[in-house]
Amino acid sequence: PQRVFSGVQSTGNLHLGNYLGAIVKFVELQKSFECLYCVVDLHAITVPQDPVELRNNTREIAAAFLACGIDPKQNIVFNQSQVPEHAELAWVLNCVARIGWLNRMTQFKDKAGKDRENASVGLLDYPVLMAADILIYRATHVPVGDDQKQHLELARDIAQKFNNDFGASIERNGFGDAFFPLPEPLIAGPATRVMSLRDGTKKMSKSDASDYSRINLSDDADQIAQKVRKAKTDPEPLPSEEKGLEGRPEADNLVGIFAALSGRSKADVLSEYGGANFSTFKSALVDLSVAKLSPITAQMRRIREDEGYIDTVLRDGSDRARAIARENMNAVKDIVGFLR
Ligand code: ATP
Ligand code: MG
Repeated sequence: PQRVFSGVQSTGNLHLGNYLGAIVKFVELQKSFECLYCVVDLHAITVPQDPVELRNNTREIAAAFLACGIDPKQNIVFNQSQVPEHAELAWVLNCVARIGWLNRMTQFKDKAGKDRENASVGLLDYPVLMAADILIYRATHVPVGDDQKQHLELARDIAQKFNNDFGASIERNGFGDAFFPLPEPLIAGPATRVMSLRDGTKKMSKSDASDYSRINLSDDADQIAQKVRKAKTDPEPLPSEEKGLEGRPEADNLVGIFAALSGRSKADVLSEYGGANFSTFKSALVDLSVAKLSPITAQMRRIREDEGYIDTVLRDGSDRARAIARENMNAVKDIVGFLR
C-alpha cells in the first residue's frame, strides 16, 4: 500500500515556504493516499527551545494543518514525541547509518555554523531521526521542500543498507527481500524552495533572525504588505520570459511565489507582468497573498482558541499512529534479533 508521511517542526514562525513547499502538498495528497502528518517536536529540540513555547508551537502547527484543510479523521495528525517508536527505531538506524554520511549533510553544516564542536549530537543525528519517522510507517512517499532532498536521499540509503545488512533475517521473518520500501520524495511545483525576502540566495526559514525575511502564516494584511514592499529586488523591470529570471534570484523568487499562490506557471505570470516595474508587481503580489492567506490565518486563530480540540486531535492521531508504529517496531526487533 502507498503511504505518505511528512512532518513540520514545532518551532514558531510558520511561513509561506512551509505552506507552499509542504502543507499545500499535504492537502492535495490526502485525496489519494493514506497520510500521516506529524508535528516533529523531537526534531525541534535539536536546537534549544523554551518548554512553554514548544508546547504552544506544537498546537500552533497542528492548528495550521487543520486550518489549511487537512482532515484529521481521514488522515493521521499527531505529534512525534507521543509515539516513542520514532526514537526507538532511530537508535537502530543510528547503528546502520555511517558517521561519514551525516558529516556530508548541508543542513547540519548550515545550522551548526562555525562552532561545529558545540552543536548538539541531536543536530548531527537529525536526518537519522527523520529516516526513522518515515520508515517506522514504511511510508512510500514524502512531500517536502527542496531543502530536504538530501535528507530524503539519506533515508533511502539507510533503508537500503538495513534491507541489505539484515537481508537473511528479513527473509527468515517472512518479509521477503526488503523490509523498508525506499521512500520517494515528492518535490514539485513552482515553490519548492521559497527564498528569503531579504536575500534571494538563502531559503525562507523559521529560524532566520529577521522577521522581514519571511511571510508568516500568522501575519495580518498590513504586515504582509510591509514585508513585500520591503522585499529586496533589483532595479530592472520584470522580464517577459522565464529565462530572463536567471541571475536575478529575488525577482525569480517573487515571481515563483506569485505563480504558486495563483496556481499558474512562472511563464504565465511573466506573460502578464513582463515589463512591469517592481512596485506594480509587488502591489499585485500583496493583494494575492492577502487574499490567499488571510482566510487561513483567521481559521488558524479560531482553531487555536480551542486547545481542548487540538489536544484531542493529536491524542487520537497518536493512538492511531502508534498502532502502526508498534507493529513495525516489533518486526524490526525480530529482524535485528532482540528477544521479546
Ligand atoms: P528551520 O529553518 O528551523 O529548519 P524550516 O522553515 O526549514 O525551519 P521545517 O519545519 O524544518 O521549517 O520544515 C517543514 C517543511 O517545510 C519541510 O518539508 C521543508 O522542506 C519545507 N520548507 C522549509 N522551508 C522551505 C522553503 N523556504 N521553501 C519551500 N519549502 C520549505
Ligand atoms: Mg528546516
